[in-house]
Amino acid sequence: MTYSYARDTSCKIKAVKQSAYKTGKYIGCYAPYGYIKDPEDKHHLIIDEPAAAVVRKIFNLRCKGLGCFRIAQQLNEEGILPPRAYYYQMIGKVNPYRCNGVWNDVTVRKLMRNEVYIGNMVQNKRGTLSYKNHKQIDKPKEEWVKVENTHEAIISLDIWELAQEIDKMRSHPRYNSLNIISLFGGLLYCMDCGFALRHQTERHKRKNGKVAIYESYLCGNYSRSGHTVCSTHMIYLKPLTELVLADICAKADIVKLNEADMIKSILERMQSQNSQETAVIKKNIKTLNKRLSELEKLLQSVYEDKIKGKIPEALCIELINKYQTERTEKSSHLQKLEHQLDENQAVQNDVQEWVNLIRQYSNIETLDRETLLRLIDKIEIGEQKIVDGQKEREIKIHYKFVGYVG
Ligand SMILES: [Zn+2]
Repeated sequence: MTYSYARDTSCKIKAVKQSAYKTGKYIGCYAPYGYIKDPEDKHHLIIDEPAAAVVRKIFNLRCKGLGCFRIAQQLNEEGILPPRAYYYQMIGKVNPYRCNGVWNDVTVRKLMRNEVYIGNMVQNKRGTLSYKNHKQIDKPKEEWVKVENTHEAIISLDIWELAQEIDKMRSHPRYNSLNIISLFGGLLYCMDCGFALRHQTERHKRKNGKVAIYESYLCGNYSRSGHTVCSTHMIYLKPLTELVLADICAKADIVKLNEADMIKSILERMQSQNSQETAVIKKNIKTLNKRLSELEKLLQSVYEDKIKGKIPEALCIELINKYQTERTEKSSHLQKLEHQLDENQAVQNDVQEWVNLIRQYSNIETLDRETLLRLIDKIEIGEQKIVDGQKEREIKIHYKFVGYVG
């Protein structure tokens, strides 16, 4: 009796919450850090400027390439209160959670993945196991309810996307023992073996007592296993930076001088690769669709045979399972191919986007990580060779959206 009452109430509460989620009304007990509840409508969020400034700072530091742990450390050094402690200070109460006096990497990471900062409301992320068990659990992403543009954003979409991109990157920049961040971390690859390049720093003591620091990159494969697998591919940071800067400027200048020609030549190159690929994808899609409709017919006829008593139960089940498994596999493959086809067809937009982006950098003088991650996908570094007594090496810069632009 008690249970059914509890279940009933619990269902009602859930239904009310669900409908509020869908309209983008904020339901939580406390507003997310950076916001407060609107005094005129407790389901609406408005910006809390002091905390919002910290949120912006976190995103900016992230875009500069700092890791979550470093960001937390910096906030603590600056004496900025973490969200929970800040909340209790704001409402003038003692923080009952004694252990939460400092920022940590988990808080920073969670904050940077919260779409609330671009004005979207994502709710139903956590909940109780059941009406009997009140333990809070993280719900699967499919159950989250997202409504866009429900309140003022703190972070621009541009910054948000860059931060998510950095989050996804395989290699995060790390500080080494000399407290130097690797500018190109995660972007450089060996042209011969494909391994990521490793960052290294050397200290040289000069005669005047000053210490000079040289940063360079070398093939990670070589650095791990030596000459038998690859050669050093060593490149110093300074010439690499100059080269990349020059390339960005040159591309920006060409775009400024003759945008139409640049777009045309990139499109021609991309589409010749693309059109072959697209033809193969289209052919595969056709084959998959044909097989899927065959499978439908096969399943249908198994059911009919079963009803007519033509085949034994066990065989019927076996056949159904077999066809259904194949259908699931083929459908998911089809979905992937269709997605790929869409992407291939979006090339034109990508090229335009790249052109718009690169033209902003014609006067670039210094290279920071933020710019690098915004513009460049990866850089392949070839080995240095001596040709006719001259040092030569091949370096291929692959830009975002358009890849290698010769
Ligand atoms: Zn290598």
